[in-house]
Amino acid sequence: MAGRTLIALYGGTFDPVHNGHLAIARTAATALGCRVRLMPAADPPHRPPPGASAHQRASMLDLAVEGDDLLCVDRREMQRDGPSYTVQTLRELRAAEPDTPVALLVGADSFLGLPAWREWEALFGLAHFVVADRPGDAWQPDTLPGPLAAAVAGRWTEDPAGLAASPSGKILALRQPLHDVSATGLRARIARGEPWRHLVPAAVARYIRDQGLYRDAADTGSWL
Ligand code: ATP
Repeated sequence: MAGRTLIALYGGTFDPVHNGHLAIARTAATALGCRVRLMPAADPPHRPPPGASAHQRASMLDLAVEGDDLLCVDRREMQRDGPSYTVQTLRELRAAEPDTPVALLVGADSFLGLPAWREWEALFGLAHFVVADRPGDAWQPDTLPGPLAAAVAGRWTEDPAGLAASPSGKILALRQPLHDVSATGLRARIARGEPWRHLVPAAVARYIRDQGLYRDAADTGSWL
């Protein structure tokens, strides 16, 4: 099985995709030696409804990855109804690809919140995890909260290439330069008329402007 091509999935709401997402996706693709598939959640569980539709969020991802050999967009969660539970997505993938190595890229905040995900302990039997640092979420493998610490014990690896040697179950810490940007902060900047375009690719900024996304109802349409 060693040497099989890894499938790297990067799920999120991407409301909208921003430079912080793209930076960790590119770092992961380079480290893992495979394309990273950005996978928008059609109906993200455990959070308020997104400001942009699933179609709009996927369209922004298309614009963000255009011409980028390291990244692509994966619409599998848009092709089913109901909440986009990761465990269900991975089980569907596993039905088609029982032995293929699969890795799930998450930011540190998502990883620390993993025990709130549906059937979270089953995820380690379905995929590897690649955990990216995120500003404000300092973490170390030996200082994790109780249930998470127990579930991840013995799973850590420092070898990105080693993830391709088994289908699932390992965890790799991706220590990359930090990008202090969040979609929540970005939407707030747009709504308040503060500068925001530098936080997303130019084509995504044009789409947000043209679609009138995330603006306060009273906003006259600033373009900062
Ligand atoms: P929101 O502020 O709306 O929650 P977000 O910026 O966290 O959005 P999501 O689409 O929810 O974006 O995140 C998808 C994944 O990307 C999550 O695993 C999250 O931890 C990670 N992520 C988002 N922004 C960053 C960043 N700046 N650095 C590292 N990881 C990030």
